[in-house]
Amino acid sequence: MKIAILSIGDELLTGEVTDTNASHIADRLYDCGARVFRHITVPDDEEAIVQALGDLALVSDAVIVTGGLGPTPDDYTAQAAARAAGVELELSQTALDHLAAFEKRIAKPLHPANRRQALVPKGCRLIPNPLGTACGFVVAIGSAELFFLPGVPFEMERMLAETVLPELAKRLPAPWRRITLKVFGIPEAAISERLHGAIPEGGGVELAYCVKYPEIHVILRAAAKDEAPLREGAAEVRQRLARFLFAEGADTMDDVLARLFRESGLTLALAESCTGGLIAARITAVAGSSAYFLEGNVTYSNAAKSRMLQVPPGLIEGHGAVSAEVAGAMAQGAREAAGSDLALSVTGIAGPDGGTEDKPVGTVYIALADGGTCRVERCNFQGDRTRVRAITCFTALNMLRE
Ligand code: ATP
Ligand code: MG
Repeated sequence: MKIAILSIGDELLTGEVTDTNASHIADRLYDCGARVFRHITVPDDEEAIVQALGDLALVSDAVIVTGGLGPTPDDYTAQAAARAAGVELELSQTALDHLAAFEKRIAKPLHPANRRQALVPKGCRLIPNPLGTACGFVVAIGSAELFFLPGVPFEMERMLAETVLPELAKRLPAPWRRITLKVFGIPEAAISERLHGAIPEGGGVELAYCVKYPEIHVILRAAAKDEAPLREGAAEVRQRLARFLFAEGADTMDDVLARLFRESGLTLALAESCTGGLIAARITAVAGSSAYFLEGNVTYSNAAKSRMLQVPPGLIEGHGAVSAEVAGAMAQGAREAAGSDLALSVTGIAGPDGGTEDKPVGTVYIALADGGTCRVERCNFQGDRTRVRAITCFTALNMLRE
């Protein structure tokens, strides 16, 4: 079955909005056993939409279209769909009823312009929209079926899941199986070298890499009938990725750490300088983190490091606030202040200013103190302030995992 996506919207072509709809649709279809064979984006321009619909209908069995179903005169999708299908627009009583019910639910009058959203191609089948004003619709052009959905992502996603995918699923092969292995701390090239030959050629299992900075996802896919080789392949890949593998599937680094802390019964305190609380935010994003997370100190100034964490001022003067010595003292100070089992500290130069020759922007020290020892690592990260802070946060969390 050949399925295409048509994204409609000026904002997608000016770079103002990232086309997350297309990636969501492709991802969901892939899980259902179909690979999108073409994806086209056109502006909010009636001629361009009519042309794209006609072109795609000739070469596809199904087309999923998003955007331009709004109430404003620059939303052309319904009229373009009618023209491409060679029919008139008609006022749909069902769509009008939907607008009335929506109005009642939000207890606020809709703008009269919304009535325009009940104009749909004659003879189409409506797709209910439980979350918004615009109904979707299905139109046949030649042998192709075209599904029109609104551009608003959360409305589109719900309609795709509830109506479009169940309709298509009847005509699709069995869903693909997918195993996602999440890796950190090793470059893509090194992963690929490690995995060379791990998956036998022609065995029906595909291997792909997807960089989701700072994580790298190794994805194994296979048709349902190749479930056994998929599992074998995954076992081999897991072994070769060793300690760089931190999570699988929907699990995140935060989930993994939460589990480790709950299982071990250990408690944690934090002392953050250049990350300004980012690590604490990640830890507390997981429900139930109060069971192991005691406190986080954002000690940005030297004075705060001394006052809150008992870092001797002489140590800061002698080595600089960004140093292994101060990172270690911060972690130990945080641990004592909180009475926790573990404490993690970070101090670094996120930039854009503040770098020196021996400590350029991106120099970060991360320390992890437990009762007996204090492990300190120096990292030399690249990139702008946001990137340095993000990778610092992730590296620090990863140290807790290890
Ligand atoms: P509305 O009823 O809101 O007018 P619509 O069907 O006309 O719905 P658009 O006006 O095209 O949809 O887009 C509505 C919102 O959804 C906008 O914020 C737009 O940026 C966003 N959007 C549209 N298409 C996409 C897309 N492909 N990916 C991500 N966001 C999108
Ligand atoms: Mg639009």
